[in-house]
Amino acid sequence: MDEQLAENVATVQQQIAEAARRSGRDASEVCLVGVTKYVDVATTRALVAAGCRTLGENRPQVLWEKSSEMQGLDVRWHMIGHLQRNKVKRTVESTALIHSCDSLRLLKSIHQAGLQLDKQVDVLLEVNVSGEAAKHGFSPDEIESVIEAVEPFSGLCVTGLMCMAGLGSDEQDVRREFDLLRQLRESNRANVPKNVDLRELSMGMSRDFEVAIEAGATLVRVGSSLFRGLR
Ligand SMILES: *Cc1c(COP(=O)(O)O)cnc(C)c1O
Repeated sequence: MDEQLAENVATVQQQIAEAARRSGRDASEVCLVGVTKYVDVATTRALVAAGCRTLGENRPQVLWEKSSEMQGLDVRWHMIGHLQRNKVKRTVESTALIHSCDSLRLLKSIHQAGLQLDKQVDVLLEVNVSGEAAKHGFSPDEIESVIEAVEPFSGLCVTGLMCMAGLGSDEQDVRREFDLLRQLRESNRANVPKNVDLRELSMGMSRDFEVAIEAGATLVRVGSSLFRGLR
């Protein structure tokens, strides 16, 4: 298992580097978030040993469990899935970044949890770029007003935007959706409150992370490609 994982991590890192080079970017601008939702703690530990130190989970309870079982390892946990307000406090305690903030009520809860823990929680605003009804996230035209509305939320810092490409999107649609996220970042970057700094773009999964990097991604969330060939 360890050898296969090391090979998969190396392959993905190389694909990241090549996509960055193609688009005139430095590979160090792109962080691989290894999505471990498919695997158990042992395999997650092996992924860390293979060099992947930023991990993403989409279910809060699993993130809490794994992060507490793996305490002491040099790992940063990212919450990438839908988060309910009653799970905010424990999630804020165990994560470095919450990608999937999709309502003002959730942002307010995160702010309050941040104040209680005396920390400024880094978060991304999830944007529904495909317009698919089943997708979470703010609509693109809400982002400007959301950024204004978070100004009093001193317990958090909005460090960027996040999206998922539409399920039914072909490569051209995907490219357009990722371009839209980058343009939203550019058009909202000026005159932001001091707890907003849109440096991160979280976009791209196994099937489309290279397109995402070409479009400007700084965080790619890759799961299945890392676990290929394991049994
Ligand atoms: C599962 C998941 C991923 C990773 O998907 P793969 O296709 O396995 O790479 C990325 N982002 C989110 C939000 C996910 O839930």
